[in-house]
Amino acid sequence: MMPIEEAQGTATPVTGRPTHLLVAEDDPANRYAAVHYLRRRGYRVTECADGPDVLRQLVQDPADAVLLDLGLPGVDGLDILTTLRREQTTPVIICTARAAERDRITGLDLGADDYLVKPFSLPELESRIRAVLRRSRPVERIDHISADGLVIDRNERTVTVDGAPVELTRKEFDLLAFLATRPGHVHTRESILEQVWGSTEAWQNGSTVTEHVRRIRLKVEADPNHPRYITTVRGVGYRFERDPAAMRGVA
Ligand code: CA
Repeated sequence: MMPIEEAQGTATPVTGRPTHLLVAEDDPANRYAAVHYLRRRGYRVTECADGPDVLRQLVQDPADAVLLDLGLPGVDGLDILTTLRREQTTPVIICTARAAERDRITGLDLGADDYLVKPFSLPELESRIRAVLRRSRPVERIDHISADGLVIDRNERTVTVDGAPVELTRKEFDLLAFLATRPGHVHTRESILEQVWGSTEAWQNGSTVTEHVRRIRLKVEADPNHPRYITTVRGVGYRFERDPAAMRGVA
């Protein structure tokens, strides 16, 4: 869909300015290893060793992505994430020793983009960074999406399936376009509410998302019970499939 940035690498994207990462980690050895590695790979890196410093830095010098240790002195990482998400959509990768599923779900629900459990390899960390940056950058530039017969025009705000126009409400369109511009990425209902609905009282109710997905499926899917565009990731949320054609006939 947009190979340009991949071809040029992520450390120095098309803007010509090095990608700015904020590494929040209180363990000096871990922090040094990550910071040193990422700088060698061409990133500009700001390092923080405690919670209050992270919040200060993010205001003074916003980052393109944040690597966030959950166990930080001063302010807990999950509280930092909550504060950050009130103001910014900066991609956040949680890097933590907390491996429990409950912690992972809490982190993702609070708006983290990815979750790495320590110990992890630095090349894997960099590949996760590239992935969250790919997902976060192209959004505003993708105006035309075409996936296995489904065509979305974000300028005209029109949708067609196999050439036939489909009538969607404003929110149905926004939700479909939001998911379709990030194919393969799983979104929790909470993060969808936050990003598609904004911070209103609709937030409180994840079934708003469920109902909108149901109505979109009725309008765009050949078989709404076996969707191939927006699929449900049980217990987590929804994903627009990277390859809807491969979903044909999947029961
Ligand atoms: Ca820590």
